[in-house]
Amino acid sequence: MDTKKLQKIVVLGTGGTIAGTAARAEDLTGYTAGQLGVQLLLSGVPGLSETLQGDELVSEQVAQLDSKDMDHATWQALALRSAHWLGQSDVRAVVITHGTDTLEETAWFLQQVLHTDKPVVLTCAMRPATALAPDGPQNLRDALAVARDPRAVGVLAVCAGQIHTAQRVQKVHPYRLEAFSSGEFGPQGWIEQGQVRWAESPTRSAEQGHAHHALGVPSANWPWVAVLHSHAGVEARQIDAWVQAGLKGLVVAGTGNGTVHQGLMSALLAAQAQGVAVRLTTRCAEGALVGPVAAFQAAALGLNAYKARVSLLLELIAPGHH
Ligand code: ASP
Repeated sequence: MDTKKLQKIVVLGTGGTIAGTAARAEDLTGYTAGQLGVQLLLSGVPGLSETLQGDELVSEQVAQLDSKDMDHATWQALALRSAHWLGQSDVRAVVITHGTDTLEETAWFLQQVLHTDKPVVLTCAMRPATALAPDGPQNLRDALAVARDPRAVGVLAVCAGQIHTAQRVQKVHPYRLEAFSSGEFGPQGWIEQGQVRWAESPTRSAEQGHAHHALGVPSANWPWVAVLHSHAGVEARQIDAWVQAGLKGLVVAGTGNGTVHQGLMSALLAAQAQGVAVRLTTRCAEGALVGPVAAFQAAALGLNAYKARVSLLLELIAPGHH
């Protein structure tokens, strides 16, 4: 028996197009996401032993859904299973198969609740597993290569040969294989022929695990935090309805440099006065708010509205730990 201590990589399945199936191989849109188990996905990746270099693979199905339907209970379950595995000394990393639609939100959630120095690598696919040329197997193999890289740290996303950080990653295209971008920063790195090349070495960020206390609160008790976009002809009455229905936090995706339609202002200020936490970000695809902004606190780190929502949610669950 080989006496060398084997390291484990744990692959957690959650569904998505990577596990999706269509009736016909040429059908790249009319498929059902979240059909195949993660073990089956792994068995469909050629050359895995070359990537793993003796590491042992453990897989677990945490969920089986289309990530457009992602919910807080699944996030909590996923985070708890990730924390469980990351806490084992022989586990090197966790890889998560996920749908592309909300991958950036899950990545940012995990970045804040997982207190770990080990890498967590999310991967996905734009084409179902039944496609003529599916992208899932390559993405999965690339994700495992990143998981084994000694410089990998924090929560990362791997898709189409690129590595992105949880903070910067964003889905930018509904169809093409290269669906993710880190905006003006560019990717954190690339996977080329199985080799990882970093644009800049990742560093452990201050946000890693800072909200891990939230995992101790049942997701059913997490506060209601919503996103509101400012746009031409926007109606303020939705804000009043939300506040009456129990809204606790609101991220406003403002126009341009965080400007907000004047028709929304009094309802937003009234909501804030009633205790709703309001954060402001921009609906622009790239960049962060510059300089002092309006009457509301700017979302931190130049996060997009959906990730700013995650941050505000965690802030409201675990006040004082952000
Ligand atoms: N709707 C799918 C999902 O997010 C899309 C994908 O995975 O590409 O689960």
